[in-house]
Order: sequence, then structure tokens, then C-alpha cells
Amino acid sequence: MSAESISELRGDLRAIVGEQGLLTGDSVRERAGLLFHGRVDAELLVRPRDTNQVSRVLALCHARGQPVVTHGGLTGLVNGADAARSELVLSLESMNSIERVDVAGRTLRAQAGAKLGNVQREAEKNGMVFPLDLGARDSATVGGNISTNAGGLRVLRYGMMRNLVLGIEAVLADGTVLTSMNRMLKNNAGYDLKQLFIGSEGTLGVVTRAELRLVSRTRSQETLLAALPTFDALVELLDRLDSGLGGQLAAFEALWGNYYDLNTAAPASNAPPLSRGAAFYAIAETLGGDPEADRARLEAVLGEAMEAGVVSDVTLANSETERRAIWNIREDVWQPRHIAPLLTFDVSLPIENMKAYVEQVNAAVHEFAGENRSFVFGHMADGNLHIVVAAGDDAATRARVEEIVYRPLAAIGGSVSAEHGIGLEKRAYLPLSRSAEEIATMRTIKRALDPKGILNPGKVFS
Ligand SMILES: Cc1cc2nc3c(=O)[nH]c(=O)nc-3n(C[C@H](O)[C@H](O)[C@H](O)COP(=O)(O)OP(=O)(O)OC[C@H]3O[C@@H](n4cnc5c(N)ncnc54)[C@H](O)[C@@H]3O)c2cc1C
Repeated sequence: MSAESISELRGDLRAIVGEQGLLTGDSVRERAGLLFHGRVDAELLVRPRDTNQVSRVLALCHARGQPVVTHGGLTGLVNGADAARSELVLSLESMNSIERVDVAGRTLRAQAGAKLGNVQREAEKNGMVFPLDLGARDSATVGGNISTNAGGLRVLRYGMMRNLVLGIEAVLADGTVLTSMNRMLKNNAGYDLKQLFIGSEGTLGVVTRAELRLVSRTRSQETLLAALPTFDALVELLDRLDSGLGGQLAAFEALWGNYYDLNTAAPASNAPPLSRGAAFYAIAETLGGDPEADRARLEAVLGEAMEAGVVSDVTLANSETERRAIWNIREDVWQPRHIAPLLTFDVSLPIENMKAYVEQVNAAVHEFAGENRSFVFGHMADGNLHIVVAAGDDAATRARVEEIVYRPLAAIGGSVSAEHGIGLEKRAYLPLSRSAEEIATMRTIKRALDPKGILNPGKVFS
């Protein structure tokens, strides 16, 4: 962007949002420091205060063919919020109110810039729960969660963000405000347009508000850590918990043994609640309505699993501190950085293929980087594994490891992105998970809604 066109755009934007609604130069690029992953080289950032201002900003950009990158909490992990010098950043940070909670209707309405953590706390204040939960809860926003269709820790029980959004207000590329703020669970009147904006990573519109689904608070919560001898035992424990607990299972996470061992030994600060050295570990969480009976039932199911040799050892958390200590082992995902710079992956695949797939990835990483360089854990019950490879992060290593991790997924019907999205990072691998016809249809939708291609250009596909 030339200095002249920046100054012209700046003047037009100032007329819409005022001086305090604009950031320029270094104060925009400093945003890169907030980005969990990626870069911001943009010259201008606009922060509208309401939907009308978003609409006027986009109408202006549409008329000028000005590319726009939307920013939420900047916790995305696939370079989806990267902004080049020629792009305008549109930040939702000034649109962060929680507008209403309807306890009887079990809904909460929030602006897109509201932090996930604030939505959770507001629901709790009203005796309800907003069940989406992830480690970045106090930075990530409702708009970002919608645009990435965030998953997290309780997908098994409550689904991904898509299952928790009832209505959306979004602004299209030309400034059209699409208000689709449905509050009912059922509404089959024509196309469900909100789905277009869920998981499309800011490429089809700017989400400005949402009606979210709340659920009742449960009375019991149990968290367990189990050690298991084989992958088949993990699958069997999942089945025993799911069928034996009458639908109370809310999370089931698998940890390959070397990840548990690494995260429970120095320099990690997590104490090992169970001794190290098992082949696999599982963390599971249940949510129910009767604390005493639920605990007794869980103990019975675990006792049977121990007797059958499915589980070699198990512990149940007896306090919130113990519960957190168990989850911290799972969430200490950056520990392998002490070995070498990291590459991280978020893939999906059928449970029946997981054992062989992970063995194949581990063997290939071992061959070029040495022993114990790949670490696997994740939301196994959702078919979602996270893989951390500590073998360097230079371009050549990245290309090699991406091939190792992504290439086998096509043959088994897996996905290169389970929950983080495609952004810029995984764009080259989209054809491994989507057919040519699917990608062509995505392009048709993109052209229909954003004919000049101004929204998040180059993200998801080029
Ligand atoms: C520690 C940590 C743990 C995480 N755990 C999980 C996890 O368990 N599960 C999971 O799914 N993700 C996880 N993430 C990834 C991340 O938190 C999610 O992708 C989150 O939903 C992004 O929200 P955000 O507001 O930070 O979005 P941003 O990073 O700001 O943006 C993400 C994408 O959405 C677009 N966007 C943002 N707001 C809007 C809007 N209002 N309208 C249109 N487009 C918009 C952006 O352009 C970009 O493409 C984790 C991240 C971290 C750092």
C-alpha cells in the first residue's frame, strides 16, 4: 500500500470510527507480540464499536477492493490472523459485551469480541454452564471460536462450537448485515445460513454477535488418570466408561507413554500421580447429577477394568487441586521444547487407525531425528490427536515432518485439521482432506459471498 493510499484509507476510516477507533504503524505491528502464532505487518487497524460501524468499514473496503483480516483474541494456531502490509486489520476488541442471558431459554447473547472466559463466568453467575472450554479461554473470543469452530476438552459430551451456536449476526464483504439471531434449538425454515460462518476462518464474513446455547450445571464431576498396557486397552476403557456410566462421560484423553514420562519429570514441574513407564495413560472426566452414586458407579466400572487387566493402575482426583494436577500433565504441551524446537499438529482419524498411524509417524520421525522426538496425546474419543515433534522448526524439517504426519491421513479418511483450522499453515495440505469437488464448491461459496476476495485473502485456499 502506498503512503498516499494509506493516508486516504485512514481518513475514510476515521470518519466512521473516530481517531480512537484506529491504530497505525508500529502500534499495529506490535500486535504480532500478542499473536500466539504468526505475523502482523499491516499499517492500519480499525476497531469498530458496533455492527453498524463494521458494516460501514466493510462497505468502504469492498468499494476500494481493500483486503481485510479480522482479529479476535489472536490465539489461533494456523496463521489465520496473519496480516500483510497491504491488508487492513479489523479487530473486534471494542465489541465485547455480553448482552443478555435467558435462563429459561438457556441462551446467552454476546458480541463477537467477548472473551470465552467471560462468557463462561457470566453463564455460571446465572447458574448455567457454557460448555466450550480450551486452554486459551481468557484470550480467545466468541467470534474466533465461531470462525475456527473450536473444539476443546468436552466435545465428546457437548460437541464443538458449531453445536453451541444457535444464531449469528455477520457482516458480509459488501457491508450487508445478515442478522440470523435464532434462539431456538429447532429452526428448519430454509437454509441454516449461520453454518457458513462457523469454521470458515473469517473468509466469508465478519461475525459480530451470536446467540449461544447454555446447559445446566451438573452436580458431580469426577476426574481419573489411568495407566494402560496397550492401545487396545485404551479403546476398551473408553467403551467401558461410555457404556457403564449412562452417558456421564464428558472427556476421554489419551497420552502415549513417552509424553506422560516427559511431562512428569524435570524440568517439567508436574508430579506423577501414577508411576512412569506404562505404555499409555488416559485422563477421563465424568459429569453427573448425584455425587455419591456417580462416584460409586465409576469406582465399580474401574474395579472391573482393573480385574480384566484393561487398566494397570488408576487414581481418582479428590479435590480441585488434584484434578488440576492431572489435567496439567495433559496441557503442558510445550515441554518437548527442551529437546529441540517444536512443530505441532492437530489431526483427525478413525480410532481403529490410530495405533498403526502413530507407530508409522514415530518410526519415520525416529529414522531422521533420533529416538523419542515425537509425542502424541489428545482427544482420542473425538478421533483427534495432537502430535508434537521436537526435531527443529526450519523450513526443510517442517516440510519433511508435514509429509510424515499428513500424507498417510488421506488413505485412512483422516483430516489435516481436527479443530485448529487451515489458515495459511495447512493450505497446501487441504486437498489431502477434501476432494477437488469439495474445494471447488468452497470456492463457489467464497465467490458468491465475497466476489472481490477482500476477506482474509489467501486463508484456507489461495
Ligand atoms: C493455549 C492454547 C490452547 C488451545 N486449545 C485449543 C483447543 O483445545 N481446541 C481448539 O479448537 N483450539 C484451541 N486453541 C486455538 C484457539 O484458541 C482457537 O482457534 C480459538 O477459537 C481462536 O479464537 P481467537 O479469538 O483467538 O481467534 P483469532 O486467533 O483472533 O482468529 C482465528 C481466526 O478466526 C478469524 N476471526 C476471528 N474473529 C473473527 C470474527 N469475529 N469474524 C470472522 N472471523 C474471525 C481470524 O481472521 C482467524 O482466521 C488453543 C490455543 C492456545 C493458544
